[in-house]
Amino acid sequence: MSAHPDAQATAPVVDIRDVRKVYEQGDVIFEALKGVSVQIAQGEMVALMGPSGSGKTTLMQIIGLLDRPSAGSYRLAGRDVTTLSENERAEARNSDIGFVFQAFHLLPRLSLVENVEVPLTYAGVPPRERRERAMQVLGRVGLASKARNLPSQISGGQKQRVAVARALAGRPRLLLADEPTGNLDTRTSEEVMALFGDLHAEGTTVVIVTHEDDIGAYAERVIRVRDGLIESDRRQTPRTSLTHHAPPHLPGAAASGEQP
Ligand code: ADP
Ligand code: MG
Repeated sequence: MSAHPDAQATAPVVDIRDVRKVYEQGDVIFEALKGVSVQIAQGEMVALMGPSGSGKTTLMQIIGLLDRPSAGSYRLAGRDVTTLSENERAEARNSDIGFVFQAFHLLPRLSLVENVEVPLTYAGVPPRERRERAMQVLGRVGLASKARNLPSQISGGQKQRVAVARALAGRPRLLLADEPTGNLDTRTSEEVMALFGDLHAEGTTVVIVTHEDDIGAYAERVIRVRDGLIESDRRQTPRTSLTHHAPPHLPGAAASGEQP
């Protein structure tokens, strides 16, 4: 794994300028994004919100290099990725971006650790290192003891944690999640969002697409999309889950470090 050059360290991870996306079906033309500009700095946790059909997934797919804009520019960590070839985009995607989807997309016949290894196999990581890295990220999401289980043997929340581990295994600079709690109940959603919160606290850049206010509340920044345009872009104090221990915000408490 090559180190990211220092010169890029200060560039935004995502720098999108006046991006448009036009879908053409026969002679019907639909403009899903109508000129969107977004900058996301390294280490931010952003919720991309908006009603169904507003363009969230379209924007996410452009950010994730799964689709390309019809117009406008995109710099990923300082590099202009607007004009890359398909192969170059696939490479950049594999090295820089981890995806989590609503449907967990685990392969049913593979054990959990083998599922986590899949993208590392494609990336050409040798078997032994693959297994080590997969076990490490499975441990990170609290599922090391289930490594040999099949997906059918674990709960939905655990499946999504495996999917997060799989996304992390490639050590991406950007973690993208499209409605990651869409198939989960409230309690399990909280557990998965707490995990994203922890990853963010460790420095991972996280972008989560959601239409649910409860989920957006975990982010420190909420970008609202409506009818293909950015409607608002606001910072907020993120919600911390019940299982989290929020640092005290008491006057004078910060300096001593010691708590009773
Ligand atoms: P969201 O994720 O916010 O629900 P999408 O980005 O999926 O919204 O879709 C935005 C709009 O673009 C919708 O009106 C949708 O019907 C349209 N759209 C999305 N993908 C395509 C496509 N491949 N072809 C045509 N229209 C599309
Ligand atoms: Mg969507």
